[in-house]
Amino acid sequence: MHLTPSNSGWIEVICGSMFSGKTEELIRRLKRAQIARQRVQVFKPRLDRRYDEVHVVSHSLQKLVSEPIDGADELLEKVLPQTQVVGIDEVQFLGPGIVPAAQTLANRGLRVICAGLDQDYRGHPFEPMPSLLAVAEFIDKELAICVVCGNPANKSQRIVDVPGRVVVGGLGEYEPRCRRCFVPVPEPTETEEQPALFK
Ligand SMILES: [Zn+2]
Repeated sequence: MHLTPSNSGWIEVICGSMFSGKTEELIRRLKRAQIARQRVQVFKPRLDRRYDEVHVVSHSLQKLVSEPIDGADELLEKVLPQTQVVGIDEVQFLGPGIVPAAQTLANRGLRVICAGLDQDYRGHPFEPMPSLLAVAEFIDKELAICVVCGNPANKSQRIVDVPGRVVVGGLGEYEPRCRRCFVPVPEPTETEEQPALFK
């Protein structure tokens, strides 16, 4: 349990690998806020259509109604004046603008809870997560369990051969691995990455 300020906004980040329970933890916090009758809005990148277009859904199929957004500008447009708590899932897909946007909301007095991957499938820091972690008041790093050996796992091993950093997937495309069992994928060619999505 965090000690939270009573007269200010703040940023919470829930990070970790795939299958570490980030979305479940986000949903848990948001449901507690709803129980307390706080006004909550939930967002996720439009890109993430794995389970449902208008819900935030964890791999364990807990869900919460959410609004799809393409980036930080749309987030700021959609946050209503009466909203007290903003939850954002898969925040790593929203580009660098999400960091100042989260700061704007927190500075306005909102509680901003962001969940996302802190490393990509190569094990590299996944911007904007490192920047978001730097400016957040509260950080939790969730761990999965390595499917190979049972150690705590903080890597997402891609087990299908598809180019590009952004392959949205679940079990079947990725599995959690520990540091020892993670097999780094070869570095990308110049044409492989697709940053245009997030400009
Ligand atoms: Zn392992």
